[in-house]
Amino acid sequence: MLLNLSVLKDNPGGSIPFAVDLDLHDMSFGGCFTVTEPVVATGEVHNTADVFVLNGSVRTTLHGPCDRCARPVEKAVEFPMHAVLTEALANDDGEEDPWLFLLEEGCADLDDIVTTTFVLSMDSKFLCKEDCKGLCCRCGKDLNDGPCDCQPEADPRLAVLKQLLKK
Ligand SMILES: [Zn+2]
Ligand SMILES: [Zn+2]
Repeated sequence: MLLNLSVLKDNPGGSIPFAVDLDLHDMSFGGCFTVTEPVVATGEVHNTADVFVLNGSVRTTLHGPCDRCARPVEKAVEFPMHAVLTEALANDDGEEDPWLFLLEEGCADLDDIVTTTFVLSMDSKFLCKEDCKGLCCRCGKDLNDGPCDCQPEADPRLAVLKQLLKK
């Protein structure tokens, strides 16, 4: 969605609210398509001394398997959204500020700003809980339900020593 900010231009101190929802279900995060519900963004653009500042938040509910234990997870997330909208990129020193967005004919490309905020805010891991213990790599038991019966890996040097002592 394009948000027309031309009215804001002649209105220092003024602001324009916005609400937009985006479908990002075809975006993969860590190989998983967890964004099955619409991404909803709300906020406002404020004219602060002729600088357009966007503040708001992005929300959705993610669905997918936990990266460690593969349990189905439903997780509500909310990320803050801050951006500065500008007519022209002033600094040309090659350093790109990801929160600086160009206005196109006086309009802010909300889809682009929301998508960027969302991608930069997403955790690289999708976990059922921060301290998920995951599955045992040997028997596959879900270690969140308790320890499994696997013996700790024997030190091969100790095994050799035992063999020698037996002789
Ligand atoms: Zn888990
Ligand atoms: Zn095990």
